Amino acid sequence: MCGCGDRHEPGTPTPYDAGRAELATGRRTLLKAGGGVAFSAAAGLATASGGLAEAAPARRERRRVYVLVVDGCLPEEVTGGQTPHLFELMVTGQRWRRAQSMPIMETIPNHVMMMTGVRPDRSGVPANAIYDRRLRDVRDLDRPSDLRADTIIQRLNRRGLRTGTVLSKEYLYGIFGARATARWEPAPIIPVSGHAPDEFTINAAMQMVEDVDPHLMFVNLGDIDRYGHTDVTGPLGAKVLRRLALLKTDAYVGRFVQMLKDRGTWKDSMVLVLADHSMDWSTPTSVISLAGPLDDDPFLRGKVQIADNGGADLLYWTGATRQREEAVRRMLRIAKAEPGVLSAHDRRTRWLRLGPEAGEVVVFCRAGWRFSDPDPLTSNPIPGNHGHPATRPIPFFVNGGHPRLKHRAASSAVAQTVDVAPTVASFFGVRGRPRGGWDGKARV
Ligand SMILES: [Zn+2]
Repeated sequence: MCGCGDRHEPGTPTPYDAGRAELATGRRTLLKAGGGVAFSAAAGLATASGGLAEAAPARRERRRVYVLVVDGCLPEEVTGGQTPHLFELMVTGQRWRRAQSMPIMETIPNHVMMMTGVRPDRSGVPANAIYDRRLRDVRDLDRPSDLRADTIIQRLNRRGLRTGTVLSKEYLYGIFGARATARWEPAPIIPVSGHAPDEFTINAAMQMVEDVDPHLMFVNLGDIDRYGHTDVTGPLGAKVLRRLALLKTDAYVGRFVQMLKDRGTWKDSMVLVLADHSMDWSTPTSVISLAGPLDDDPFLRGKVQIADNGGADLLYWTGATRQREEAVRRMLRIAKAEPGVLSAHDRRTRWLRLGPEAGEVVVFCRAGWRFSDPDPLTSNPIPGNHGHPATRPIPFFVNGGHPRLKHRAASSAVAQTVDVAPTVASFFGVRGRPRGGWDGKARV
């Protein structure tokens, strides 16, 4: 399953409800904001008048970075006809033609890689959905405590700079928690999709620039992804809803950039636009379900849990530890024999860098397929999915008026989502690195 729906632990509040509860108990404060948009900040940071207390370094620092994630966008969807504003930013800025999402090619892990600059074996966040061994249930990684690595958001906070998160999806809002000095609580939330429409998100982003003016702002625009997931015309190549979403989201990005120019801050700014993963479409006849074949094996029966991530299945052995190696061998053999499976890997395979939260075996589907586990009919009925290698290519470009940035430059270097944090750090001249170094590379 793509992770669109609610997959919270039963009886626990959603991230949204948890945020509301924090406001009610005074652990966070609402900042004064215009335009009917509400932002919150940690209680100690807000002033009595409802503004944000400003540190001396913040007054001196003129540079601004805006990371805009066009969720689920394919590189080839950025064209002059379909997305004129994004296209203009791309061709007049600096672009990386071979940019990539990282495993698992899902929303939460790639947003976490962007902000931490480290791979999932160091952040604790390898996928959208995992099997939580303590809870004995599959759940989304949507809690602030799930993210164990330091973020560029917190690094800048410690230098006295302001940071802001404007994340359209409930689970992103959940995992980044109260890390940013100011954050928008996505609203209104569309029930099943769990995200706020881009029109509201971009309004909140523009309002946050007016009211809080963060040095770093991290924005997720979820419409392109959400309309891609549900678009039944996707497998036919029509993608009617998605094209509409691309057109609208492109116009919102155009409005945002125009606002920076109108405010006169473009000359100090870097805008980094990228996607977290792309998207692949499948028909109901190209669905893989591993639960049945795994259960047919008497050694494995009843002792394997599956966290379905749309284009990737994570398999967890829940039997005796001494039988683990035999279980891994059997899971690999059975998964590889299923039609539609591209590859199956022992999770400890070095290049995956996923960490123990991802279970024992990682299975990727081929392009044009999807997983539906544990139930082949009901677990994942949606046509658009990601998580598998077919959804690795992403757009990745920077633009802005800051003199440090290059223009009309294209690179064939492989930029990755994990490069965002070191790029932001380099732009702000932050020299400290995470213990063990960055896993990504500064691109400016
Ligand atoms: Zn996404």
